[in-house]
Amino acid sequence: MKKDVWIKEIMSLRVSNLSQKDITKILILFYLIEYKKFNTIINIKDIAKYIYEFYIDNPNISKHNPNSVIRNINKYNIEDVFQIVRIALYDWKTDYSDGCLSFTENEVFVEIDNIDDRFYATSILIAKMLYKKATMDDFNYSPNLFELNQINSYNLDYLNNTRLKNRVLEDMDYCCCCDNTEKLFIVNISDNNDMINNPYNYVTVCYEHYKLFCEKYYRFESNGQIKIFKEHPLLNSNMHISQKIMKNRKIEVE
Ligand SMILES: [Zn+2]
Repeated sequence: MKKDVWIKEIMSLRVSNLSQKDITKILILFYLIEYKKFNTIINIKDIAKYIYEFYIDNPNISKHNPNSVIRNINKYNIEDVFQIVRIALYDWKTDYSDGCLSFTENEVFVEIDNIDDRFYATSILIAKMLYKKATMDDFNYSPNLFELNQINSYNLDYLNNTRLKNRVLEDMDYCCCCDNTEKLFIVNISDNNDMINNPYNYVTVCYEHYKLFCEKYYRFESNGQIKIFKEHPLLNSNMHISQKIMKNRKIEVE
């Protein structure tokens, strides 16, 4: 397919004028450009992850979505967004049917000849224009947790107000001490300053176990087992982080 077809295609993408609007199509466009996903088979789950993280990180945008899954995205998982991506792809085809984008149940493919830097520059310009028209706001989102690069001390209260918490919650949605699923916080299992920027070193705990963690009642051993420093009725030596969660994590207790 030719580049000018693609430009016509993305210029044709429509977002409703109503107060509730779905910008998922435009987010798919940003995903394709940001990850340079042209002439390659894309798994729908990779697009869904990007869309999911965007909506979780931007509650001011997700609250205007007509779909209640997006409006309440905190209660859902990436898998719940697959269908939303499929609907957006159908919608894309309704706006422009003979374009470069094609898809099946679980895969997306965008075929374009002779891609160069100008192609990316024009595409991103159009995507930003569409986004601004739909949201009245500038697009300045990056899924990379760049804000963590600034952090050089282990301040849990602060970290619990960053997007890092959203990423950890994608993996884990219960307290690793008591399985409670309400009001979760994140703690770094390594307790080591070199590890604070690594999202894989965090686990979720409930508010009660968060307070006890902050007051150094307990930490974890390298096998995920709890290590109690001060006795407390809410702590017992059988508590441990599940092996499934431990697989990606590395504990380095100081
Ligand atoms: Zn708990």
